[in-house]
Amino acid sequence: MSCLFCKIASGEIPSETFYEDGDVRVFKDINPKAPVHLLVVPKLHIQSIAHLATNHGDVVAKIIYVAKRVAADQGLTGYKLVFNVGREGGQVIDHLHLHLLGGWGSKEERNVDV
Ligand code: AMP
Ligand code: ZN
Repeated sequence: MSCLFCKIASGEIPSETFYEDGDVRVFKDINPKAPVHLLVVPKLHIQSIAHLATNHGDVVAKIIYVAKRVAADQGLTGYKLVFNVGREGGQVIDHLHLHLLGGWGSKEERNVDV
């Protein structure tokens, strides 16, 4: 298994984890673009949203519900959820992940490019 996010999600590589269960790990982005910048990562290796199969609905629903839960735990009342898809979409890590971004103090700060 050579995928970085497979290794982090499984716990083989340590991370600053905010939530974990059998399906998902949420950890801090190493290069945060917002006061709160977490990555919601399924333990199942799926390359991107563009690579979803018809049986992956549960995985996608799960990471969105986990994002909602962790955002609430962090006290965020508003936030952004972002999937980068493919190189042209800004995706660098080829393992599906949902960016959870928030904690801004002003509208200007909120203009993030992840
Ligand atoms: P993306 O551009 O959507 O593929 O996002 C990948 C994200 O993973 C970037 O925001 C990186 O800062 C983040 N990242 C890369 N390596 C690590 C790591 N070892 N631990 C935590 N976050 C990472
Ligand atoms: Zn992977």
